[in-house]
Amino acid sequence: MNKGKQILIIGAGLAGAVAARILAENDCQVTLLEQRGQVGGNCHDERSPDGITFHNYGPHIFHTNNREAWLFVNRFSAFRHYQHRVLSYVDGQMIPFPINRDSICQLYGLDLDIYGVADFLEKEVARSSFNNPPQNFRDVVVSQVGEILYEKFFHNYTYKQWETDPRELSAEIAGRIPVRQNRDDRYFTDRYQGIPEAGYTRLIENMLDHARIKVILDTDYLANRAAWDRGPFDLLIYTGKLDAYFDYAYGRLAYRSVKFEFLTLPVERYQPAGVVNYPNDYDFTRITEYKHLTGEKSALTVICREYPTADGVPCYVILNAENIGKRQAYLDHVQELEAAGSHLFAGRLAEYRYYNMDQVIVSVMEKLAAWMQAVS
Ligand SMILES: Cc1cc2nc3c(=O)[nH]c(=O)nc-3n(C[C@H](O)[C@H](O)[C@H](O)COP(=O)(O)OP(=O)(O)OC[C@H]3O[C@@H](n4cnc5c(N)ncnc54)[C@H](O)[C@@H]3O)c2cc1C
Repeated sequence: MNKGKQILIIGAGLAGAVAARILAENDCQVTLLEQRGQVGGNCHDERSPDGITFHNYGPHIFHTNNREAWLFVNRFSAFRHYQHRVLSYVDGQMIPFPINRDSICQLYGLDLDIYGVADFLEKEVARSSFNNPPQNFRDVVVSQVGEILYEKFFHNYTYKQWETDPRELSAEIAGRIPVRQNRDDRYFTDRYQGIPEAGYTRLIENMLDHARIKVILDTDYLANRAAWDRGPFDLLIYTGKLDAYFDYAYGRLAYRSVKFEFLTLPVERYQPAGVVNYPNDYDFTRITEYKHLTGEKSALTVICREYPTADGVPCYVILNAENIGKRQAYLDHVQELEAAGSHLFAGRLAEYRYYNMDQVIVSVMEKLAAWMQAVS
């Protein structure tokens, strides 16, 4: 029933590429517009002139518990079995992060077992002051680790990241911070984790490599939307910025951005883990050394320092009351368009929410399954 349906997709990031592939494999004819001269969106990666792969918009580790999403991406690249580890530079030491048993033992020179850690954290929390139930970011973290560890690992990092007192940030942002009483020092604990051996850009190029997908680069849909909207298209899938689609009718949705500073250094290894956080020192929040992620061998290395900024490429949604209100006003219109079956809004920009890569894939799969069912 989908045979020959004409689809216009805006954006060749992960959301647009997954949608294009699924629809092409369901006999639809897909035209995909991308404003940049390259595909991959925020997952884009490339090789330095010295042959070292780096991620242009911050370190991207694929991690999921969703088998379908994992099998889907594995069709387009083999994956390197990489388990991400992060250290935090605190009191002059590189401490495992998220906080676990080894973090506490190393920081305080203690030798605690799992029950000792539970007891330690309980006492730290008991002598701390915070709102209970937690009302903001600080409360959520202090209620789990106490004020001292909060100050050492979270306060300044969060301030740098958001340029806002953590007391004014929503509890929701901190909701997912893991604290472990065991020695598991992996950053993610999902069942499936890895880095595409071919790189994310190649993975997405492979996804788009289908006879029924036509990719048009360097083309901003919004700059000429009247012409594109004349179609004829059966469905438009939009993965660009939500407020821009509606011509900012309810005002701009704010984002926090990051300035990525890349350096090639004449050393084989710069730091002991893929990412080192710098909560209390320097102006950057963290340094990534990409060779840990990719496993590439070289006498040189590429690192990236991240400086959070107010302006620049949209990285993180700012979920304060003002933006949540605006988002809802836009989403009411989205709902009408989606109910009519003519449009779908998918991905981190079009839905104005933080999405991991696997969540983007699952969400696009679900939206398309519902659309295909409705039109069949
Ligand atoms: C610093 C950082 C680190 C991250 N690390 C991880 C990680 O480790 N693991 C993980 O799972 N996720 C991570 N993510 C999340 C991941 O980047 C996103 O889930 C994913 O990139 C979202 O894909 P998308 O297609 O929704 O959006 P995007 O990648 O932003 O793609 C949207 C595309 O649409 C194009 N576009 C927009 N407007 C128009 C227009 N008018 N006309 C034509 N084209 C248009 C854009 O140019 C872009 O290519 C990270 C995000 C950030 C910010």
